[in-house]
Amino acid sequence: MIGPELRPLALVTGASRGIGAAVARALAPGHDVLLGGRDSAALHALAVELPGSRPWPVDLTDGRALAEAAGGIERLDVLVHSAGVGLLGTVAETPASTWRRQFEINVVAVAELTRLLLPALRAAGGRVVLLNSGAGLSARAGWASYAASKFALRAFADALRAEEAGNGVRVTSVHPGRVDTQMQREVVAQEGGDYRPESYLRPESVAGAVLLAVTAPDDAALTELVLRPAGP
Ligand code: NAP
Repeated sequence: MIGPELRPLALVTGASRGIGAAVARALAPGHDVLLGGRDSAALHALAVELPGSRPWPVDLTDGRALAEAAGGIERLDVLVHSAGVGLLGTVAETPASTWRRQFEINVVAVAELTRLLLPALRAAGGRVVLLNSGAGLSARAGWASYAASKFALRAFADALRAEEAGNGVRVTSVHPGRVDTQMQREVVAQEGGDYRPESYLRPESVAGAVLLAVTAPDDAALTELVLRPAGP
């Protein structure tokens, strides 16, 4: 007798809220989903909502914990990097500690988790999707360290795509404009403006773009997806 088909496995970082949680919800109907983040209560609540998913609680900046958590994954169909921080400030007011924190989470943790999971991704002919930003395409005043981290993330994605094409691993950078999430609330608070969610993208819309990248047929590599709020 042939046993039941195993569902594809996805790991989504930053799944405790915002875009990552929306991506987990979008993937859950067709995937078993590992829910990454540090907020265990939020991850458990989402796991209850999404059958086939389970919390994957780890601080991405803790190299030892990350290696341990990734160690048990032998085959991975989808890796979505949504965890990130958005620390604003002009060059004049941004100390080295902010640059380091921003790069540690937005770039170094992404590179390290990808490296640890490459054998599992190769085994599955997997998809890697990176939540980049409009700031990864052009930099504005006051956004130097965030934009630089997202430019670096784009370069990482481009190199990974070139290196892994022969191994069947596909890589997509998704570049949304402003999205209605906690990060955007913090960004607007740093900028000192009004929070206008009706003018921003919904996390579900960004998750739709991620799903598009994940479900693209094997002959089509969706390399970059750019989403802007549609309103004026
Ligand atoms: P968010 O609501 O602030 O969520 C950030 C996520 O990252 C949380 O789930 C958080 O989980 C996780 N995270 C942060 N530091 C972590 C760490 N050290 N270890 C593990 N997880 C960590 O942000 P978002 O708006 O959903 O943004 C998601 C991604 O989209 C980011 O890469 C961001 O740069 C990008 N993006 C956002 C916007 C926007 O307007 N919101 C626009 C363009 C691009 P825990 O707190 O549970 O650890």
